[in-house]
Amino acid sequence: MKATIAPTDIARMMHAQNGQCVYCAKKLGTEYAIDHKVPRSRGGDDASENLHLTCRWCNGEKYNRTHEEHVLWRAATYGA
Ligand SMILES: [Zn+2]
Repeated sequence: MKATIAPTDIARMMHAQNGQCVYCAKKLGTEYAIDHKVPRSRGGDDASENLHLTCRWCNGEKYNRTHEEHVLWRAATYGA
């Protein structure tokens, strides 16, 4: 497990995500959150494969759901 998330990792994710939140597609500026697809509370780690960028709102809303659970939760809550 990596101790820290490198700025290059963040830049790479930002590019891969077209600068948008994974969930709501809001444009991310400096107000992003580094989200764990599998939360640390559920056994996820800081490996880059487990990370993506979200807006702070979605990060807070996702709480301890996994990525897959949150996609389903959003569909149920907001509609597909
Ligand atoms: Zn969002």
